[in-house]
Amino acid sequence: MKKMTIDGNTAASHVAYAFSEVAAIYPITPSSPMAEVADEWAAKGQLNMFGQPLRIAEMESEAGAAGAVHGSLTAGALTTTYTASQGLLLMIPNMYKIAGELLPTVFHVSARALAASALNIFGDHSDVMACRQTGFAMIASNSVQEVMDLALVSHLSTLTSKVPFLHFFDGFRTSHEVSKIDVIDYDEMKALVNMDEIRDFKNRALNPEHPVQKGTAQNPDIYFQGREAVNKYYDAVPEIVQEKMNAVSKLTGRKYELYQYYGAPDADRVIVIMGSGTDTVAETVDYLAAKGEKVGVIKVRLYRPFSAKHFIGAIPATCKKIAVLDRTKEPGSLAEPLHLDVCTALREVGKSDITVVGGRYGLGSKEFTPSMVNAIYKELAKDEPKNHFTIGINDDVTNTSIPYPEFINAAPKSTVRCKFYGFGGDGTVGANKNSIKIIGDHTDKYAQGYFEYDSKKSGGFTLSHLRFGDEPIRSEYLIDEADFVACHKPAYVTMYDMLSSLKDGGTFLLNCKWTDEELEEELPASMKQLLAKKKIKMYAIDALATAKKAGSPKSQNMVLQAAFFNIANIIPYAEAEGYMKKAVEKTYGKKGPEVVKANCDAIDMAISELREVAIPEAWATATTGGAASISDAAKNSKYFTEFVSVINAQEGNKLPVSMVSADGSVPTGTTQYEKRGTAAVVPMWDIDNCIQCNQCAYVCPHACIRPVLLTEEEMKSAPADFATKNATGFAGMQYRMQVSPLDCTGCSSCANVCPAKNKALKMVDVEQAIKAEKNNWEFSQTVAIKEVAPTNPKNSQFSQPLFEFSGACAGCGETPYVKLVTQLFGDRMIVANATGCSSIYGGSAPVCPYTKNAKGEGPAWANSLFEDNAEFGYGMFLAYKARREKLASDMQKAIDLGACDTLKNAFEEWGANMKNVAITKKCAETIKATLPECIKKATGELKSVLETIYADSDCIVKKSFWIIGGDGWAYDIGYGGLDHVLAQDD
Ligand code: SF4
Ligand code: SF4
Repeated sequence: MKKMTIDGNTAASHVAYAFSEVAAIYPITPSSPMAEVADEWAAKGQLNMFGQPLRIAEMESEAGAAGAVHGSLTAGALTTTYTASQGLLLMIPNMYKIAGELLPTVFHVSARALAASALNIFGDHSDVMACRQTGFAMIASNSVQEVMDLALVSHLSTLTSKVPFLHFFDGFRTSHEVSKIDVIDYDEMKALVNMDEIRDFKNRALNPEHPVQKGTAQNPDIYFQGREAVNKYYDAVPEIVQEKMNAVSKLTGRKYELYQYYGAPDADRVIVIMGSGTDTVAETVDYLAAKGEKVGVIKVRLYRPFSAKHFIGAIPATCKKIAVLDRTKEPGSLAEPLHLDVCTALREVGKSDITVVGGRYGLGSKEFTPSMVNAIYKELAKDEPKNHFTIGINDDVTNTSIPYPEFINAAPKSTVRCKFYGFGGDGTVGANKNSIKIIGDHTDKYAQGYFEYDSKKSGGFTLSHLRFGDEPIRSEYLIDEADFVACHKPAYVTMYDMLSSLKDGGTFLLNCKWTDEELEEELPASMKQLLAKKKIKMYAIDALATAKKAGSPKSQNMVLQAAFFNIANIIPYAEAEGYMKKAVEKTYGKKGPEVVKANCDAIDMAISELREVAIPEAWATATTGGAASISDAAKNSKYFTEFVSVINAQEGNKLPVSMVSADGSVPTGTTQYEKRGTAAVVPMWDIDNCIQCNQCAYVCPHACIRPVLLTEEEMKSAPADFATKNATGFAGMQYRMQVSPLDCTGCSSCANVCPAKNKALKMVDVEQAIKAEKNNWEFSQTVAIKEVAPTNPKNSQFSQPLFEFSGACAGCGETPYVKLVTQLFGDRMIVANATGCSSIYGGSAPVCPYTKNAKGEGPAWANSLFEDNAEFGYGMFLAYKARREKLASDMQKAIDLGACDTLKNAFEEWGANMKNVAITKKCAETIKATLPECIKKATGELKSVLETIYADSDCIVKKSFWIIGGDGWAYDIGYGGLDHVLAQDD
């Protein structure tokens, strides 16, 4: 057994690889790394514990993967798979079959929320709970170490019991947490395997040399008996699992029980929970025990089959009240699944003297902290504790929540907690992973790393949470009180409250080029106040300038890593320096001694360039300083100020239930308010060189560069430096190519494509561009869009993009097409989007890049699942076909009942031209304008029919149906069939 610093997915895969001959897979976040590392090991020729490489087959979907697993097991190969969320649900039909046929296997699941009103890729137990009836045994691991140990228990148990196992651990919180653990060697695992059980499994395989038939159809006479015939196998599972746990405990020295009690032997209040939250509860139990409270926790490890006998045995005799915590929601149920199981178990043994309440926590990786656990124990202490409660949110609609106003820090005193604010692609996360490895692999300290990302595909916010300590780390939650905070992006000082969670006397490191005098101007008043009031030690460094000085401009993250080790003082700096330089040699050795030296120089210079900032006492009452730049349009949007900006400031956890849409629908056109300012360089237009081809706008993935046509009248209100030239092909108009520097991602696609001699676009420093162009952009947005027929690529760009400023990567190759499609069809476009890149950049909370034109029309967009967007879109198409046919019939009825001539003519023209975009638009205008008056005058049946037509008048214009694949492939379903993109409107 050796110590390694790895994440939960790697730990699971390590064990699964040892035990498997075949893995049939389909990747889904957050389980994909299990398959990826296995694939990498197989490619390198790594052998399983039987001396074979793992054979991995990627299927067309999780349903296919489950089918292949079923087949492989039927034919006698030790087989595994890895999955999560709706992917796991696609496996359910085969899971019944695998369990029904008593085929031993282990599915490793990084448990994840299910898409309901919205998709969520983060952790909870909704997916695994949907499998509790399949016949799979279910084991929960609570930490990275437990993933290693209980994956082994699962594989050993399935071989002995013949019952298939679902081994799960919390998505992201455990699957992606990097932690220093004991890794069990394959020889040690093999010593625990009974090879006769494997032989027995292979002997049962389908084989023509000793044929049997499986999967038959049975009639009412024997099917029921067959289902009951498996009982004895399930009855045996708890004892088998405990036996395997004992064997693993003997090997590792870590005790494992099916339902493991931790806490005061004479506890009166007990929490029952499974998954990563158990360690947080255990940590809080220790904190409360030190204050004399008698509390405890039962960690549920074997969830199916649920052994009432073992569970009851784990409850201390003194227990009076139990709170059962479920990390799932089953709308309409009497209670959530674990709560129901606990109630049933108590009832079955006739234990009615214990009060049991249940609550939901942590859905979609919502935080679950010691402060919340403390509040639950306090609630249990009440005479009538709240039942069916929620914790961690403010449910101001149905009032289910328990408040948790008291903050407690339950972590051991030796734990050092560090937070790093970075952005996607800046190397912060990579450097932090490296820091954990340095400390984890070279010292006796325990280390834990967890990394938060926003939904932007690049340039988004990242927040690294690192803990180091002399005792094992059980804090399975984000750092809520830090000893050290680093801000790697200066713009964040006005965007995020980084210091509220920094403890008094903590350390703050800011990467910026500001002098002390400039800090006075740039830091917001609120930050200055916290720096002074909390007596924070502040350090500053210009990482870019330091890296450049060392001759290695890309080594900014190394500069910041050295600064961190120097001031956070987790290990002596001289040691850290040695480890960092060794890592440099390992990483850059092949690139030559100059590169190694430049990187080592960056480490050395970090220390000489790092400076402590003296905090003036006056800052405690500061009222002036930097402020975030928010446009007037954003300020005037209630949705932005009350919802989007709160989430963007990383304060979304504070939003109450009443602020979140119950059906998941959100307004469109909200990326325009974000002004993310992610680019370092942006294009500057050279009016003299420009030939007005509009190619730059055509290729821009983010709609940040747009041609503007202005009348002489409009020019009168233009800013003084809003330079224009006569528009080629548009007599009497002025032309300008306008850039939005705060929306641009700096990809240079526009400048690269510009065909003008000497180029009409040059990339310049963003700060220079913001000063020059911010007002010009804002003015350009007030200029009316001129109606220009999009008969060629140039002219298409005068149409308003109804897809703008998405979170797609800089230089994205998909979004220019999505944008173009919205310019051509956006005002009547309905999109069925598969899950994938295009749904993330196209539909991630809190903003929407699909927008509206001046009439309020624009793409209506929805995402169903990863695998069904064609069917989803086809359903939309059928719905409109049916609705428009009904409309046609209503119009005919209105004509027959004597509708006025204007309406009659419009109805008839529409009926004869339902598929003609221009005519349906014209008819819609006439009908919508005429109907209100006609309805007022009409009586009887005619009035009623006209009212129905008016209510359905949003179906008059011919719609344009689009299926966008997860990877951005777009197709248009024309009215009456699948048409080519442009053919539909020709
Ligand atoms: Fe658009 Fe990229 Fe040019 Fe910015 S640099 S305007 S994002 S093409
Ligand atoms: Fe002008 Fe160059 Fe853009 Fe063409 S690609 S419109 S020449 S800036």
